[in-house]
Amino acid sequence: MVIASAMQPIWRFMVENNTQLKEMIRSMVIDLLQGQKQEAASSQPVKQAPRGQVEPGVFDTVDDAIQAAKAAQARFEDCTLATREKVIADIRATMRPRVQELAQKTVEETGMGRVADKVLKLNLTLDKTPGVEDLVTECETGDNGMTLYELSAYGVIGAITPSTNPAETLICNTIGMLAAGNAVFFSVHPGAKHLSRLLVSELNQIIAKSIGIENLIVTLREPSIESAQEMMLHPDVSLLVVTGGPGVVKQALQSGKKVIGAGAGNPPAFVDETADIKKAAQDIVLGASLDNNILCIAEKSVVAMRQIEPQLVQEMVKVGCVLVDNQQDIQRLVDLTVLPNGTPNKQFVGKNASVILDAAHIPYNGDPRLIILRTPKDHPFAVIEMLMPILPVITVDSFDEGLNVCLLLEAGLHHTATMHSLNMERLNQMARKMKTSIFVKNGPSYAGLGFSGEGTTTFTIATPTGESTTSARCFARRRRCCLTTGFNIR
Ligand code: NAD
Repeated sequence: MVIASAMQPIWRFMVENNTQLKEMIRSMVIDLLQGQKQEAASSQPVKQAPRGQVEPGVFDTVDDAIQAAKAAQARFEDCTLATREKVIADIRATMRPRVQELAQKTVEETGMGRVADKVLKLNLTLDKTPGVEDLVTECETGDNGMTLYELSAYGVIGAITPSTNPAETLICNTIGMLAAGNAVFFSVHPGAKHLSRLLVSELNQIIAKSIGIENLIVTLREPSIESAQEMMLHPDVSLLVVTGGPGVVKQALQSGKKVIGAGAGNPPAFVDETADIKKAAQDIVLGASLDNNILCIAEKSVVAMRQIEPQLVQEMVKVGCVLVDNQQDIQRLVDLTVLPNGTPNKQFVGKNASVILDAAHIPYNGDPRLIILRTPKDHPFAVIEMLMPILPVITVDSFDEGLNVCLLLEAGLHHTATMHSLNMERLNQMARKMKTSIFVKNGPSYAGLGFSGEGTTTFTIATPTGESTTSARCFARRRRCCLTTGFNIR
């Protein structure tokens, strides 16, 4: 009775204030549920993908992405080498049928290059990027026992990719970096963000299906220069691998971290009088016109001995070049494609020769692969890395003069040079003196990427930092493991 009488005012309140009561109960339930949610979230050891993440491996903040990659790498480094081999084999096989579409999407988004050429580059990447086999163990044994040198993972690598080979670099880096046991945060070029996001998310799905680990490679939904710089300074990124122009490499070198920097190039092609001129012309046109010359290794100028220059130019025209030999036309091309500050006009970077010729009102037939023109050695087209299908031809009177012009044009970038000659001594001398990461004798520049040339491929040629043609072994820390007794059986 006492209770019932004490309850009376409550019942009365309930009856009289039905709506208010309902609201009170609703807000109590919401508070309770939110409390439970927060408790559940704080008990998670690793941050889950942020709200709104619909594409695997794609995050809204640098820190969320790196934390997810770090957690994934901790699981990955406990896997066997066979597991790494499996995931790489699955990436190669699953990406193969996607190559045509990726090439198309890249050209659509970046407005640079040619679809058919990108297909070649992507297939090359899948075929010839080395995997786990690249991690070669060294061993020393003696009276004091045995010392092993093994190549082990860095952890999370911060990889910066260019707009010129966005898909190739991303796949190539993924294979090499996973082979070495790492996870990767990809800071991609904003001008290729849609394609790169799609690729990261597809690769994530392949990796998760193959070995059950998510977020081994991650990226941002909205990449920017600022987020790239934030990534460079993030404490959980152990190594920076930067593929791009001189500005970004310089920026990364200021981070205080180890940097593998793959910078700009300006590769000359030297042709002397002993060369097979027809073959030299074909090789140069093939190399220089690939993907409209946006490859850093592509021939950016031809240095030709005077006695063979007319024949060389004639042969180049026969295999698809337009020769522009009127000074006014040449000047119009310069005015169109070089900005007053001496940088290439991005509007024409990676465009088909026909687009540039149309803009300059220069007539042509068909779909020319390359525009060639005769220039002095200090012409803007010779000294600027144009990344356009425009190839200057410079005449020299001796081998020594030609070598010096090539050194001048390569400008100490240590990138790429090619030479066409049947004179062994000159081939040797030029290879030694150029000090480039890639030197191709009697072939197109892309032979140096393993395309119709021997060797593996890469799309990260570390020029300023010296690792040269990078592969899994560059993305690994060399560690020494010493056993003080036994294991010497000599
Ligand atoms: P880019 O330098 O404009 O951009 C490359 C990447 O760096 C992009 O992801 C971009 O967002 C980022 N970036 C640029 N400036 C930055 C800064 N200050 N701080 C942080 N991040 C920054 O180059 P691109 O136009 O995309 O590519 C073409 C250049 O890259 C050419 O010079 C070419 O020779 C070079 N490249 C070199 C190699 C090689 O292996 N050596 C390969 C491909 C391209």
